[in-house]
Amino acid sequence: MSTPYSAKIIDGNALAAQTRATVAQRTAALQARGLTPGLAVLLVGDNPASQVYVRNKVKACTDAGLHSVLERYPSTLSEAELLQRIEGLNKDPAIHGILVQLPLPAHIDAHKVIEAISPAKDVDGFHVASAGALMVGQPGFWPCTPYGCMKMLESIGYDLRGKHAVVIGRSNIVGKPMALMLLQQNATVTLCHSATADLKAMTLQADVIVAAVGKRNVLTADMVKPGAVVIDVGMNRNDEGKLCGDVDFAGVRLVAGYITPVPGGVGPMTIAMLLVNTLEAAERDAAARGLT
Ligand code: NAP
Repeated sequence: MSTPYSAKIIDGNALAAQTRATVAQRTAALQARGLTPGLAVLLVGDNPASQVYVRNKVKACTDAGLHSVLERYPSTLSEAELLQRIEGLNKDPAIHGILVQLPLPAHIDAHKVIEAISPAKDVDGFHVASAGALMVGQPGFWPCTPYGCMKMLESIGYDLRGKHAVVIGRSNIVGKPMALMLLQQNATVTLCHSATADLKAMTLQADVIVAAVGKRNVLTADMVKPGAVVIDVGMNRNDEGKLCGDVDFAGVRLVAGYITPVPGGVGPMTIAMLLVNTLEAAERDAAARGLT
C-alpha cells in the first residue's frame, strides 16, 4: 500500500514577514535618499470586510515605514467626486501608490475608476495598462494576489519549466493574471472556470494547482495527483463561521506535496506584495527624479 503524503505547509505568514522586513530595509534606504514611499487607500462605503482589509493594508504600510493615508468616503460619494480625488492623488508627489478598495457602490463604475489611476501608481495592478504589460511580458505592476502565489512557489525553489499548472478561476484580478505569470515561467497552463466540463480530469494531471474560486471544497483529495503543489487563494467561511479556503485542506494535505493554509497562506502574501509594489513605484520615482 502506498504511504500517503504529508504535505509540507507553505507558511504565508512567515514568508510575508520576511518580505515585509526586506521592504522596510529598502524603504529606509530610500528615505536616506530623501524619499518616503506613500500609499493612498480609498474606501467608499462601509462594507465590513473591506474595512478590515484596508485597515490591515494601512497598518502593514506603517509598520514597514511607508507613509500611508486611508481616505474614507460615504457610500453616497459620486463617481465624479471619486474621479476628481484620484486625479489629485495622481499629481501628489508624496503618493506613489493608489488603491481603491473594491467592491464600489453600484452607482460607481469600477472600471472607469481603475482606469483613472495613473499606471505609474497602479500598485494593485488592475489597470488595463498593467494587465497589458503582464500579457506582453513588459515591466509593470503585477496584481498582488497572484504575485504573492508566485513568491510562494519561488520560496520552495519550485521550477515551473515544463510543469503542468492548473488554475481554477478566471477573474481579472486572480485567475487570468495567475495563468499569465505561470506561463511566463514556462509552465504549461490550463485555465478552468465554471463551464469547465470535467474539472477533476484537469486537476488530476496537474503538478501545480491554484484554486481561486470562492467556494469551499472545490478541490478535494481525489482530484489531486500525489505530490502536487496546491495553492489555495479562496476565502470562505465554514459552518462554524471560521475562515477557510477553496481546498479541503484536511484531505488534500494527505495527497499533495506542498499546500498553503487558509488563513496564513495567500492572504498575508497579498498584503506583502502590495508593499513591494508601492516601494517599487517609489524607487522608480526616485530614479526619475535623479535621487541617488
Ligand atoms: P470571482 O471574480 O468570483 O471569480 C471566481 C472564478 O471561479 C470565476 O472565474 C468562476 O468562473 C470560477 N468558478 C466558480 N465556480 C466554479 C466551479 N464550480 N468550478 C470551477 N470554477 C468555478 O472571484 P475572485 O475575485 O477571483 O476571488 C476568488 C476567491 O479568492 C474568493 O474566495 C476571494 O475571496 C479570494 N481572494 C483572496 C485573496 C487573498 O488575498 N487571499 C485575494 C483575492 C481574492 P466563471 O468565470 O465561469 O464565472
